Amino acid sequence: MKFDQNKVIPIRLGSAYCYYLPSPNGSVLIDSGHFNKQNHLQSVLVAHEQDIRDIRYIFVTHTHHDHVGSLAAIKRISDAKVFVHRDEAMFLRQGRTPLPKGTLLWTKMMVHLGTVARIGRYPAVEPDFVISEELQLNEFDYRIQIISTPGHTAGSLTIIVDDHMAFVGDTMFNIRHETVYPPFANDQAALLSSWNRLLGTSCQTFFPGHGRSIDRAKFEHSYHKALDKLKVRGARC
Ligand SMILES: [Zn+2]
Ligand SMILES: [Zn+2]
Repeated sequence: MKFDQNKVIPIRLGSAYCYYLPSPNGSVLIDSGHFNKQNHLQSVLVAHEQDIRDIRYIFVTHTHHDHVGSLAAIKRISDAKVFVHRDEAMFLRQGRTPLPKGTLLWTKMMVHLGTVARIGRYPAVEPDFVISEELQLNEFDYRIQIISTPGHTAGSLTIIVDDHMAFVGDTMFNIRHETVYPPFANDQAALLSSWNRLLGTSCQTFFPGHGRSIDRAKFEHSYHKALDKLKVRGARC
């Protein structure tokens, strides 16, 4: 039986969502929000009759400060093992990840101001597992596949559960009506190939770091829209 989508607990920690997947043999947390949000996480889990100490693994979709700010504290409380992509392990160890590039005029300006204000720091964490490409885990009552989906950052990961749900971090943003294209991405060509790869899976629901879950139809529509835009840009060159 596939993992029931309704069992996923989305928890907003600052501006970013983290996701808790309960399991009788240890639970999973995907991302860990802004700095100092561990108490909020704890109280939401208690309200769902869950215990933060049951978290066995924490998967980091990428190491921007809004996704790993409370990681050190949550790891300390739960003693969970942390998984991160090879290309971002060093950032996690030093507690600082460079801000991503903007893909829109306003986000380009925002990144510039953020860099000046030195935003991007968080308490450092020593990861337990460093992923180079892909990883499959069969030790829960659901199947986990972790794949590399670069674009927003070089080390962005997507966590696929039972071939039907994907936790994509900032590879998609669901904050605009017409598209899930991220307002920030270091490599937009890589992002589009990652999207193509995700469309090649049988996933039907995509859980982003910002905004509510995305159905496959909206994702597909956004992909074709982004491809058309790229073609127009290419034709102008
Ligand atoms: Zn990000
Ligand atoms: Zn984010």
